[in-house]
Amino acid sequence: MEKLVSKMHNLTQNLWWTWKPEVRTIFRDLDLDLYHKVHQNPMSVLKQISTEQLEQRAADVDVPARVDRALRQLREYLTPVTTWGLTHAGAMRSRPIAYFCMEFGVHESLPIYSGGLGILAGDHLKSASDLGIPLVGVGLLYHEGYTNQVLDTNLWQQDVVEPYDIADLPIKQTMDRHGEPIHVTVEMPGRLVHAAVLEVQVGRIRLILLDTRVKENSAKDVALAARLYGGDQRMRIEQELLLGVGGARALRALGISASVFHLNEGHSAFALLERARYRIQADGLDPHQALLEVAAASVFTTHTPVDAGHDRFPADLISDYLRPLAEGLKLPLDEVLGLGRVNPHDFGSSFLPTVLALRLTRRANGVSALHGVVSRKMWNHLYPGVREEAVPIGHVTNGVHLPTWLATEMNHLYESHLGVGYQSALTRPGTWAKIVDVSSAEIWETKQVLKARTIRFIRKRNAAMRERLGLPEIEPAPLDPEALTIGFARRFVPYKRPDLLFSDLDRLDRLVNHPTRPVNLVFSGRAHPADSTGKALIQKVNHLLEDPRFRHRILFIENYNIHVGRMLYQGIDAWLNNPQRPLEACGTSGMKVVLNGGLHISIRDGWWAEAYDGENGFAIGTGEIHADQAIQDQRDAEDLFRLLEDEVVPLYYDNRNSTGIPRCWVERMKNSIRTLGWRFNADRMLQDYVQHLYLPAAVGSSCQMPPP
Ligand SMILES: *Cc1c(COP(=O)(O)O)cnc(C)c1O
Repeated sequence: MEKLVSKMHNLTQNLWWTWKPEVRTIFRDLDLDLYHKVHQNPMSVLKQISTEQLEQRAADVDVPARVDRALRQLREYLTPVTTWGLTHAGAMRSRPIAYFCMEFGVHESLPIYSGGLGILAGDHLKSASDLGIPLVGVGLLYHEGYTNQVLDTNLWQQDVVEPYDIADLPIKQTMDRHGEPIHVTVEMPGRLVHAAVLEVQVGRIRLILLDTRVKENSAKDVALAARLYGGDQRMRIEQELLLGVGGARALRALGISASVFHLNEGHSAFALLERARYRIQADGLDPHQALLEVAAASVFTTHTPVDAGHDRFPADLISDYLRPLAEGLKLPLDEVLGLGRVNPHDFGSSFLPTVLALRLTRRANGVSALHGVVSRKMWNHLYPGVREEAVPIGHVTNGVHLPTWLATEMNHLYESHLGVGYQSALTRPGTWAKIVDVSSAEIWETKQVLKARTIRFIRKRNAAMRERLGLPEIEPAPLDPEALTIGFARRFVPYKRPDLLFSDLDRLDRLVNHPTRPVNLVFSGRAHPADSTGKALIQKVNHLLEDPRFRHRILFIENYNIHVGRMLYQGIDAWLNNPQRPLEACGTSGMKVVLNGGLHISIRDGWWAEAYDGENGFAIGTGEIHADQAIQDQRDAEDLFRLLEDEVVPLYYDNRNSTGIPRCWVERMKNSIRTLGWRFNADRMLQDYVQHLYLPAAVGSSCQMPPP
């Protein structure tokens, strides 16, 4: 038994299991209740399960053989003979990409992410791992994590910290050659902040995480990285300095000489200044030469066309923080500050990390084709005399890591029809073309299994919330399992318009309560803890759902996170996305739904603007934008209702064959998978980054960087 436990422990030590359902289920099968109680964390299951239970279940569910098989698979995965990365990015093997991000969403048990940005970063690491691309992640370890959403009796979002223990995760202190723990320090006004350099293994990829819980730090500095996006502007600057400057120093301390710095969003932009500072110190480079070289070897990805989404630090606040870097750069402080000002000579104006990042990287990109266009327009003023089309911001459309989001049953269907090795050829259209050969019955039946599971999950979560809030139980059980079920889950902010369908309650009533063609709707989503407008939207929607007309048909699920997301994406029939165009930079939740056989119903914004072809989902509106937002909202609501009433609902309910399968709906499912599967996965995204950004930038990073 001891040997088995030790093998199981080994299996938990690489987050590879986060995208291996067959490994996760080994732990789930030991104790289902415990598994969910500990947020599906295998290390916690192992710690908390009793020896008797383990012995009993190990025999019952064939654990030893499954563990051996998984360990063998992991070993093979970690020592590949060949990979895409080896053939296409082999040159970077000794000098990897350093991928900086403020948040990483790898699994729900490691709460150092808040939403889309972090989950994208997690998917980025996982696909880099699968493809064998030399890359290291750099982030912060928030030891209190991110908050959970819990509604109070006013249906107002409370943000609750749920303590977690990093001892329950395979996070390790890094050691130097002498066996000493590796630390870095970052200068802040009047003090040095220290951080321990930890790491966690994500398949073949190392994720470096800085932890401020070290004895050299004051209590206040320990708290600096306690929480993701907590605190005021000062704390935000300090976190960003820690990530950028501390992160770059951590790489050097680990002996990692990165060829390219990739800043995923502007939060880590200070890394560029530190990189240049080091070139000056170590190689005696001229400051301006150093900045040019850093720019040549760095990539910046911007993620939002919403102006308020970009940090903006007041001049008096940021000056003190940048003084040590300016000294190291041998440049006047004002020149360094100017790099982050919209107008460098406008002394006293705010400092934007996004502007710094655009100036100090030669390659920048938005995250969908449309977002590229919008970003070039948005930042045109930084490039005087340059035409909008010539602004040097391109695009790489986001994609999602298929094994992380795909239901096991769907994976089996793909394996049997696309081929057992289809996951290693995800980006080839030919791989997905074979979906047309799948019988309607098989794909429909598979979806029904997933849908039944998702509806059980939704009912259970919703009932638990109602019970806690003292709301009456809904009887009979809500949601008709046979009804078309549409999901809407995302951050609650005005531009995403979670209340668009509630603009006409009578029409919504007729839609969801149609006597023969009913519709279920499921909402989920959090607001940023400091965003009372978003919280008011959550309250508004939840209030409306208490209307007796909607109670049986429309439910809200608390605490949208990776786990809730996975459950929704896998079983929902269709996914609704109705933002104000063009404010959705990309959006990725719809991609996760499509891979699981759901259909996307969306405004032509973000990825959908380039993905929709007329037959692979549904588009709301034409893509035209009215100058008056109120009129635009009205039009979009009208278009959305009409689309649902005239197209989506009939497609789902009509044209059923003798066994009740909706032929046209299934046809569209297949179209959707065939035309979207190969493009909107993270392997394609990584291949684009390597070929269009990383390789050119790596060439730009002349090989003069000395070993540390
Ligand atoms: C994928 C995902 C997101 C991002 O999706 P959007 O479409 O950009 O909203 C956010 N939260 C969770 C939990 C996700 O899984």
